[in-house]
Amino acid sequence: MPLSLYNTLTRAKAPFQPVRPPVVGVYLCGPTVYSEAHLGNARGPVVFDVLTRYLRHLGHPVRYVRNITDVGHLESDADTGEDKLEKAARAQRLEPMQVAQHYANRYRAHMAQLGCLPPDIEPQASGHITEQIGMIEEIVQNGFAYEANGSVYFDVPRYDEHHRYGRLSNRSVADQLAGTREALAGQDEKRSPQDFALWKRAAPEHIMRWPSPWGEGFPGWHLECSAMSRKYLGAEFDIHGGGLDLMFPHHECEIAQSQGSHSHTDEARVWMHNNMITVNGAKMSKSVGNFITLTDLFAGPAGGLSQAYSPMVVRFFLLQAHYRSPVDASDDALQAARKGYRKLMNGLRLLDKLAAGAPAAPGRPEAAAELRALAAKPAEFLDDDLNTPRALAALFDLLKRFNTLAAAPAALAEAGGEALGAAAAAYRTVVTDVLGLRDEPRANAEELLALALSFYAEAKADKAYAKVDVIRAALKDQGIVIKDTKAGVEWAYSEE
Ligand SMILES: [Zn+2]
Repeated sequence: MPLSLYNTLTRAKAPFQPVRPPVVGVYLCGPTVYSEAHLGNARGPVVFDVLTRYLRHLGHPVRYVRNITDVGHLESDADTGEDKLEKAARAQRLEPMQVAQHYANRYRAHMAQLGCLPPDIEPQASGHITEQIGMIEEIVQNGFAYEANGSVYFDVPRYDEHHRYGRLSNRSVADQLAGTREALAGQDEKRSPQDFALWKRAAPEHIMRWPSPWGEGFPGWHLECSAMSRKYLGAEFDIHGGGLDLMFPHHECEIAQSQGSHSHTDEARVWMHNNMITVNGAKMSKSVGNFITLTDLFAGPAGGLSQAYSPMVVRFFLLQAHYRSPVDASDDALQAARKGYRKLMNGLRLLDKLAAGAPAAPGRPEAAAELRALAAKPAEFLDDDLNTPRALAALFDLLKRFNTLAAAPAALAEAGGEALGAAAAAYRTVVTDVLGLRDEPRANAEELLALALSFYAEAKADKAYAKVDVIRAALKDQGIVIKDTKAGVEWAYSEE
C-alpha cells in the first residue's frame, strides 16, 4: 500500500505522489526565536521528523527545510504591534540578532533532545531579504500588491477576482475579518482590511531595517516562507507543514503570495497541519498556570504537572495521538506514555535475547507468514496518513508475540529463524529509525556509584577480599578509584 496523506487543501486523503520522484521536498514553518520553546512547539517538529524519517525509509531522498523566523513577526496578525524579536531585545537590552541566536541555539538543542534530526536547510528570514524583495516586485508587477507610504500591501480583493483567498482555511471574508476590528487602528494605509503587509516601512526607532525600492523597512512575516521555500524547494514542491494555528492567516497568505508572484503555484501540492496541545484540558497560557517550556518540562515539575518527563517520554506521548487530533498533556497521559515507551525499549532488549536463541531452521510456513504479517502492520498504519497511534498499537501486538516466542521454544521453532529475524528487524526499524525513539539512560550514575561503594565497604567489613578486588577492578574500568580514608570510603577519578 502506498503512503497516503491528508491534504488540507483538498480535504481528502490521497496516495502521495512526489512532484519530481523519487525526491521529496518538505517545508515546515519553524520557530520565531524570541523566547523559550514550549510544549506546544514540540509537536510539529516531532510529527514532521517522523514524516521525513518515514519518507527516507521508503527510499525517497528528502530535502527537509525548516526556517528560523528572526524578523518580521509582529505581535498582531493584523500587521500591527512591535516585532517580537525587537521587543524581546529591547526588554533584555540585547541586539535583536543576539536574541535570535540565543533562542535558535536553545531550540536546536531541545529538538535534538526530542530526537528530531536537524533539517537539511535551516534558512533565516533576515538572510533572505533580497529574495523577499524580488518576490514583492513580482507580485506588484502582476497587479496583486500596491505601495502606500513606503509599505507594500497584498491586494486581497484584487487577488480574489482571479483566485480564492481563504481556499486553504475554508474561511469566508466575514470569518477572515472577525476579530480584526480593534486592530484596524493605524491601518488606514490598507485599501481593504483583508490586505496584508508584504513590506513595512520602518519607524525611526525600528532596529532591523533594510533598503528596498520602497525605502527602508522590513519584510512581512508571511513572505519569508514563500520566498525561502521557492528558493530551496522550487516553485512547486511536495509537502508544506505547520501547526493548525498557522493555517490562517499565515499559510493562506503564503499561497496568495506564491500564486500572485511569478510562481503561480500553491507552493506545495500537499498541505499538512498538526493539531494543538492542551495541558490539563486547557489551552496553554501563563495566566492559567499551565504554560510549560520544554526546559521546565524536562526538569519538572512544571505547569500543573507533578514531575519531570524526559524528552523520549514526551516524544512517545506526542506520537500516541494522531497528528490531526488534539492532544491533552496531563500526569496520567504522560505517565501512561512513560510506561509505553519503556515497554518498547524493553522490547529492543528482548530482541537481543531472542536473536541469541533463534533457531537456524526455517519454521512452519504458516507460522512464519503469520509472524511476518504481524511485523508488517506498523508500517501499514504509517502508510495511512502517518497513523502513529495505530502503528504503536501494532508494535505492542508484535512485542506480545515476541514475548510468547521467548517463553515457548516450540513456538519459536515453528516461526523459524528467518521470519523471526525479519520481524525483529521490522520492529527495530520502526521504533528507532522511523519513530525516532531511542534508549534514554535512566539510571542515575551517582546513585549507582554510591551503591557500589556501599557494597565495597560491606565486603571489606566481612573480609571478603575477593569481592573487594572485583569491585575495585570494575570501578577502575569506569575510570574510578576507591580510596579508603579515616572518614570512610571515598572515590576519585583515576588519573592514569
Ligand atoms: Zn511559515
